[in-house]
Amino acid sequence: METFIYNGLATRVLFGSGTSRRLKAEIERAGCKRALVLGTAAQLKTITDLAEELGSLAAGVFAGAAMHTPVQVTEEALIYFRDSGADCTVALGGGSSTGLGKALALRTDAMQFVLPTTYAGSEMTPILGETENGVKTTQRGPRIQPEVTIYDVDLTLTLPPQLSATSGVNAIAHAVEALYAEDRNPVMSLMAEQAIAMLGRALPVIVKTPLDKDARANALQGAWLAGMCLGSVGMALHHKLCHVLGGTFDLPHAEAHTIVLPHALAYNAAAAPEAARIVARALNVSGDGATALFDLNRSIAAPRALRELGMPEAGIDKAADLAVRNPYWNPRPLQRDLIRDLIARAWAGDPPQTN
Ligand code: NAD
Repeated sequence: METFIYNGLATRVLFGSGTSRRLKAEIERAGCKRALVLGTAAQLKTITDLAEELGSLAAGVFAGAAMHTPVQVTEEALIYFRDSGADCTVALGGGSSTGLGKALALRTDAMQFVLPTTYAGSEMTPILGETENGVKTTQRGPRIQPEVTIYDVDLTLTLPPQLSATSGVNAIAHAVEALYAEDRNPVMSLMAEQAIAMLGRALPVIVKTPLDKDARANALQGAWLAGMCLGSVGMALHHKLCHVLGGTFDLPHAEAHTIVLPHALAYNAAAAPEAARIVARALNVSGDGATALFDLNRSIAAPRALRELGMPEAGIDKAADLAVRNPYWNPRPLQRDLIRDLIARAWAGDPPQTN
């Protein structure tokens, strides 16, 4: 018999094609009056169009969102939020846009509406990572959790194939670690397996035909489920390693996740064989889960080696030291020499060590 605790996430989700047209009605339904529309500079046109559709409900547009949520950007946006008389935010984009909405909500308790355009999954979590003076700190809290998420498949069609591939594997990583989380439970494990299966089938199609709407819908639904996993149960070695690698060597977030994931699962498989078996089943292979993930990465032409991302070889030891410095829960105890081997393999682009 399994003993577990399940905490549900309090979020409202709309999913479909063309659903972003329902944003105005959602803002009115929530009783909000003025929405500050947030995004990155690269998505300025999309967020400006969205603000136009909102008409008098739009308080303005702030297109300064950036990776890892710099506090300096949040402070600029906060002035804009207050001066414009906004009472809620609309974040359109990936984890960077969502992060800015969360950072503003943390400081103002403003209601958040999110329209995700990547597969990062941040919209389903009460987690915020902020960067100040080169240091990233992460916190959780009810104010951080976005209240309404509108998944509009149409908004994801422009996500370039390579970004789609790595963003999709970033989502798979949330689901894989949910399967062996300390606080795992049967509900999240079901969602995790389904997330891996949906993304595993959709990503190879998307890299070949980025406008395939069915594949896009499956990937986005998989990303939603994976985001729920990230928001509901604790993560372990894989997320810790990516945090260390991203923060120390300024590696791109989704790419680092993509490269490390097969190696992290290979490390943990001996202590979490059921999780590894479920990953293989979800990816429809009879072999081991770590190799299945490595092969998936190959099939979607994802980067394979941390050195391709610019990580120096001398950084392998530093990363190993940092990864074991502060103890955290992991199904398999952390052994510095083995973690070093794992990072060295990921750095070189070697297959995962599966025995
Ligand atoms: P991102 O939001 O930085 O987006 C990457 C780039 O792609 C940006 O330039 C963006 O404008 C562009 N883009 C996004 N969607 C597009 C689309 N549909 N068409 C064309 N261009 C598009 O990247 P990300 O990987 O989604 O998010 C990474 C950030 O999110 C990191 O800071 C990470 O730490 C954070 N994150 C947080 C959580 C959490 O729960 N707190 C979860 C996952 C990621």
